[in-house]
Amino acid sequence: MFIKGKRIVTDKKVSVHNPYDNQVIEEIGLSTEKDVAEAIEIASEGFRILKNMPAGERAKILERTAKIIADKKEEFARTICLEVGKTINEARTEVDRAINTIRLSSIAAISLKGETVRMDIVGATKKMAFYTRVPLGIVLAISPFNFPLNLSCHKIGPAIAAGNAVIHKPATKTPLSALMLAEALIEAGLPEQCISVLVGPGSSVGMALVRAPEIRKISFTGSLEVGETIMANCGMKKVTMELGSNSAVVVFKDAPLRLVAKKIRKGGYTLAGQVCISVQRVYVEEEIADEFLRELSLEVAQIKYGDPMQEDTEMGPMIDEPSLKKAEEFVEDAKKHKGMVILGGSRQGTIFLPTIIFDVEESAKIIQEEAFAPMVAVNKFKTIDEAITRVNNTKYGLQTGIFTKNINFALKCAKEIDSGGVLINEIPTFRVDNMPYGGMKGSGLGREGPEFAIKEMTEEKLIIFDEIE
Ligand code: NAP
Repeated sequence: MFIKGKRIVTDKKVSVHNPYDNQVIEEIGLSTEKDVAEAIEIASEGFRILKNMPAGERAKILERTAKIIADKKEEFARTICLEVGKTINEARTEVDRAINTIRLSSIAAISLKGETVRMDIVGATKKMAFYTRVPLGIVLAISPFNFPLNLSCHKIGPAIAAGNAVIHKPATKTPLSALMLAEALIEAGLPEQCISVLVGPGSSVGMALVRAPEIRKISFTGSLEVGETIMANCGMKKVTMELGSNSAVVVFKDAPLRLVAKKIRKGGYTLAGQVCISVQRVYVEEEIADEFLRELSLEVAQIKYGDPMQEDTEMGPMIDEPSLKKAEEFVEDAKKHKGMVILGGSRQGTIFLPTIIFDVEESAKIIQEEAFAPMVAVNKFKTIDEAITRVNNTKYGLQTGIFTKNINFALKCAKEIDSGGVLINEIPTFRVDNMPYGGMKGSGLGREGPEFAIKEMTEEKLIIFDEIE
């Protein structure tokens, strides 16, 4: 845990494991529910400091933080590689993105503004008004295991840019890069009261924070199930929910199949499929289904899996044993629903083999639920309406990819598909950190991307002037 600018040694420890070989990487101090009250008291003081700090100064602190992370890029990347099990190259990409997210937050700090409000539409002709955006107070950032640095930056960056103090509850499996981020913020000049990191179980420490009335805003990224629990317990707070998905790709017969297959090789199997916008369902027009399946199988069969620290490894292990078991269950369930396992379908140690399932019933878990594993289901469709209905027929709606040269098909899909983003001729796994990112339906509430998140981290304050004699 990290309080008042430093890591705290506690009696109780949590061991952080390397998911590839289960070796202990580090033991760190575990927070308990008792630490919650202290963190809140400190953050209340932090808020008083930060809301009075000029935006330009907050922006400079964030800019310096980005520089510190950039200077320590390899150290951050190795830590992420070890704690998450993503490949060293995936980890480097995450660090680059995190640097960018903090820089974008710095820009958001100085770009945030209000507007004038017309007063003369109902006769208040002498009045003049405007609103500003003011920080909320204490922001609780709860982050998942899969992007422990960049997704933390997506919350902490905009929160600080707006003038809020932050209490961060990272995933207990992957707290190390979050602690390094807090250290970078302090080194960059952030007053020590403005960031605390509590490392402890979501069900106790997380829940105590969620329920605390002093916290004004929760920015959560994680599963739909935990998101629903938070919503049911948080009371009067603003919330942003970045949740799961089972993202789909629709491939029409005029699409360049080899290119699509190459893109899905990345989109379905990066980080062993443990990405919220991982490609999980592919709907292919019937006439080209066999050809597409051949192309995809050729690509996926080439994925080099193994030790994530090796430079040429393309796919590493899954995060833990329950995730491997869940992946096995999904494959068994797909078989029961008439799915054919074309590739993979089983584990090798801590690695789940890159898997393709073909022609599975739409009621199967791999179609309806979130697999969060390196597996892609390929199903056929006959008409565009059928494809759109199937894409929409789940509880999730984060991002969807469409491949076609037919502009009418592209537009119809863009209009009728219920997801936060529709990407034409791109996989749903594409994300740059400045875009408004978030889901519809069970995939979430609100949007991230510093320019958008900073609005969710502030509230409007209206100021009205009148003339007096
Ligand atoms: P998770 O199990 O939902 O946990 C996420 C965070 O919530 C962790 O810090 C966890 O702490 C905490 N938590 C658990 N129970 C809690 C409670 N009752 N109250 C407060 N906090 C609680 O998710 P995960 O397995 O780490 O991550 C995978 C999920 O995140 C997937 O569903 C994925 O799609 C989603 N995700 C979404 C996005 C997006 O932007 N939409 C991005 C990445 C991931 P512990 O670690 O201590 O359990």
